[in-house]
Amino acid sequence: APAVEFRSVGKTFTVGRTTTTALADIDLRIERGEIFGIIGYSGAGKSTLVRLINGLEKPTTGEVLVGGQPITGIPEARVRRLRLDIGMVFQQFNLFRSRTAAGNVEYPLRVAGWPRAKRKARVAELLEFVGLSDKARSYPDQLSGGQKQRVGIARALATSPALLLADEATSALDPETTGEVLRLLRKVNAELGVTIVVITHEMDVIRAVADRVAVLAEGRVVELAGTFDVFAHP
Ligand code: ADP
Ligand code: ADP
Repeated sequence: APAVEFRSVGKTFTVGRTTTTALADIDLRIERGEIFGIIGYSGAGKSTLVRLINGLEKPTTGEVLVGGQPITGIPEARVRRLRLDIGMVFQQFNLFRSRTAAGNVEYPLRVAGWPRAKRKARVAELLEFVGLSDKARSYPDQLSGGQKQRVGIARALATSPALLLADEATSALDPETTGEVLRLLRKVNAELGVTIVVITHEMDVIRAVADRVAVLAEGRVVELAGTFDVFAHP
């Protein structure tokens, strides 16, 4: 089964008497092991698409499948279990300020009920993978933006998800740091085999990491192709 599949998905929001179409007629297959880019301007429907993948929204029409499993029309407890197999990386990092880098990475392992010794070993392994072993005891306020995002990526990978959603993950970073984080995402994909969905409004980001890209505009996929085909090359 593909990592993610949208079958004729539509999503509307009704507020009072106004209905907004956030997504219409979305048919999409994201294959296992690829880095798939989703690009579009503000309001194009990117966040709604992400929220449909992680089950935070339900489609108005059609069906969303993750790892071949429908994520709608199933009990909420099962949605939560499926969500454990999806890592999320955010624009504003969403780290706990009161926890160290190690404590942040450890958090999902606590939630998943891992025993202390296993957590400790896993945290050390993850911090090493993202190149931050020496920052284990630093607090987010003591880290640079790029370091914070590497902690965010380590945390997202803690429970070994098959799928990673990077939602504007580099939008708060300068170009040099962006390059560093994108290299890490490529390493996650190549060495761990994790399928990655990169959501962004920045073409350079897609160009640097994505194998394929869907261009979203006004809630529709207006172009879907290999990254090389979508962007003109100088
Ligand atoms: P993007 O992430 O690309 O900026 P969004 O998915 O946030 O786009 O929004 C797509 C459209 O759906 C926009 O017109 C937005 O105003 C609308 N929308 C998104 N979420 C909601 C909501 N909870 N209630 C009402 N309208 C919404
Ligand atoms: P907090 O203040 O959030 O509790 P700590 O720094 O005390 O953060 O550690 C949180 C968890 O991370 C603990 O389980 C600890 O064993 C583990 N940990 C701390 N430092 C390291 C490290 N260098 N390598 C691996 N795990 C660590």
